[in-house]
Amino acid sequence: MEKSKYAGVVVDQIHPSLDKIFHYEIPDHLYSCIQPGVRVQVPFGSRSLQGYVLSLEDKIDFPEEKIKPIKKVLDPKPALPKSLIPLIFWMKEEYHCLFIEAIRCFIPPGLRMNIKEKTHKIIVLEDTDALDDWIKTVEKRSSGMASILRMLEQNKSMPLEELLDLSGASRSSVQSLLKRGYIRIEEEETYRDPWPVDLRPIQPPELTSEQLYAVRMIENCLEKQRGTVLLFGVTGSGKTEVYMKAAEEAVSLGKQVIVLVPEISLTPQTVGRFKSRFGDKVAILHSRLSIGERYDEWRRIRTNEVTIVVGARSAIFAPLERLGLIIIDEAQEESYKSEVRPRYHAKEVAAKRCELEGAVLVLGSATPSLEDYYKAVKGDYKLAEIKHRIDHQSMPRVEMVDMRRELEMGNHNMISNKLYNAIEQVLNRHEQAILLINRRGYAYFVSCRSCGHVIRCRNCDISLTYHISDDALKCHYCGYREAYPIICPECRSKKIKHFGAGTQRIEEELYRLFPSVRLLRMDADTTGRKGAHQRILEAFKSQTYDILLGTQMVAKGLDFPNVTLVGVLAADTALNLPDYRSSERTFQLITQVAGRAGRGYKPGRVIVQTYQPEHYAFHYAANHDYIGFYNREIQIRRQFSYPPFAHIIKILLMGEDENNIIHISKNMVEWLKKRIGDDKQLKEGLLDLGAYSAPIERIKRKYRWQVLMRIHTNEIYRNAYHRLCNELINKFYDDDYSLSLDFNPITLL
Ligand code: ADP
Ligand code: ZN
Ligand code: ZN
Repeated sequence: MEKSKYAGVVVDQIHPSLDKIFHYEIPDHLYSCIQPGVRVQVPFGSRSLQGYVLSLEDKIDFPEEKIKPIKKVLDPKPALPKSLIPLIFWMKEEYHCLFIEAIRCFIPPGLRMNIKEKTHKIIVLEDTDALDDWIKTVEKRSSGMASILRMLEQNKSMPLEELLDLSGASRSSVQSLLKRGYIRIEEEETYRDPWPVDLRPIQPPELTSEQLYAVRMIENCLEKQRGTVLLFGVTGSGKTEVYMKAAEEAVSLGKQVIVLVPEISLTPQTVGRFKSRFGDKVAILHSRLSIGERYDEWRRIRTNEVTIVVGARSAIFAPLERLGLIIIDEAQEESYKSEVRPRYHAKEVAAKRCELEGAVLVLGSATPSLEDYYKAVKGDYKLAEIKHRIDHQSMPRVEMVDMRRELEMGNHNMISNKLYNAIEQVLNRHEQAILLINRRGYAYFVSCRSCGHVIRCRNCDISLTYHISDDALKCHYCGYREAYPIICPECRSKKIKHFGAGTQRIEEELYRLFPSVRLLRMDADTTGRKGAHQRILEAFKSQTYDILLGTQMVAKGLDFPNVTLVGVLAADTALNLPDYRSSERTFQLITQVAGRAGRGYKPGRVIVQTYQPEHYAFHYAANHDYIGFYNREIQIRRQFSYPPFAHIIKILLMGEDENNIIHISKNMVEWLKKRIGDDKQLKEGLLDLGAYSAPIERIKRKYRWQVLMRIHTNEIYRNAYHRLCNELINKFYDDDYSLSLDFNPITLL
């Protein structure tokens, strides 16, 4: 084959004007190391930039004399495996991002920053035969030197620090031995281990017939190297055991596996189980790793030292070359969607990777998203169901409390009589309870009882939350804070007061009602530091606390056998948001927390406080009836043309000049109407189109407007609208405001 003369390179600069493939000549001496995926140094104008080779070409339509040569190849092994390059092109199309934004998803910051590999020093004995003589020589002069040599007599080579520690000798003794030529130092590369666990191998349990059925279904797909399996099983039904068995199968076929979990800090138990089962063949990737740790894990993956990668959302970009299986646990979770550019959804990226690399996708969930279950019903996904909990533990009883009745009966507390009695029982029996309130802080708004004025953030369209611990009002969107006002800034009345409740307020109330209660609070305010989640969970597990009180963080992935009561304090918070997913979210939340109770041998009880107990989401959640909920909700989605029966395209415009933002939004709609009117496909595909101010009108001083389109789900229309969106971005790109585009956003807020 003819040698390719040119390389197509994307430079490592985030700017739309540089978002193309630039061509460079491949100099002869670099020829053997240039291939797609390799990181290079290239001349660019008067500068020298890093870039990535995405293609090799023989001919280009560009004057040859203007083509410059690649300067340098930066890594011995390409930073991107060749198999991932089509995925980068796909991401660019799908998420309307820059090439380099897609590429950077795959590259750990540590590589771009050229951080040092961590090494440690090993002391090696030069000559064993001469050892006795050497010991005699140094013995009289220094006992330190002698004891170092004696240690090395047993081991020949030892890490420096360990040697110093065990021999009690000083560093100068080491220096003297070096000078005499008795020992030498070698550097050995080490990896920072982000998840040190003691690796006690655990005997896997014998799988139940339902678990085996699921495993067979996955094995079947592994053989064919394609397919998606929806593993639908209630919490505690043994899904994780299925994942591990399937992973084992894939590995035995010589394949590698990615396991995604919603948020590592919330699912330490799942991660620990994989580590215990597969040992150092597992790499862990998540957002709280230091740059060094992440870089090291990435290198272990890139050099194929690991077979299984467990991680949060971004682990979907793990540069494995022999990918055979991707498992997404709690696949309905919204944390799989990135809310920063590129706005990818890990589930979509996973599906594409599986298609491109001949791998199998497993989606596990106790409450599959409506879209996923719909695909299973249609037959696009295979469905494996685990209907029973292991040991056939019963699902906990879910009881609704109508808070309107509670008020009528004169109870003005945040805690209903029923929940009060249940907590008292738990305390008497020395069991534990988890309480959930979806709001941190003390009270969620402060308002004037004379004129009704609500204190809002000066940068955002959001009421400020009162935090009692530092007696301040804070904005949960931008961090703005101010002192508690003495008088109403509108009418100067003194009747200003806080309303609603957050975690801090409930904490106070619990201490008042149960003075000797041992209480742990878990929310964004108490989990800021690295490792804080784990410390809180460990403390709760050790049963030195009676109650774990927190935001939705407490709802997920936890497994505490002594928890017999779960209380949800203001269950309607999510229900009242103007979003087509609000019923689904509420159903999922209640179902999930319900799964937290009764994980041990004692029966569990769930108490849900709400102002709308008649809402169907509560009704089905209380009856543990996913199918019932699905049938009802899917009908509504169909009737009103919401996903999965339509795609939503959201274009969010944000800028400080409100009039300008409104003006641009309206222009955009006009432009879209014209383009769509002129094109048969676009016209057929459109359901509706409009510009609206966003439900949260202002965040961080920026006004927010959105242009929303709904289109039919057909692949042809979808592609046509992707092309239209590309055009739109080019036309409306401007430094004066920001524009972000989302195909099927997870929220319309
Ligand atoms: P899920 O992931 O669906 O919540 P897990 O896999 O965590 O469920 O299983 C719940 C509990 O049951 C775990 O403690 C697990 O070790 C145990 N378990 C799972 N499968 C079996 C089995 N086949 N036999 C005995 N115990 C099992
Ligand atoms: Zn007032
Ligand atoms: Zn704010």
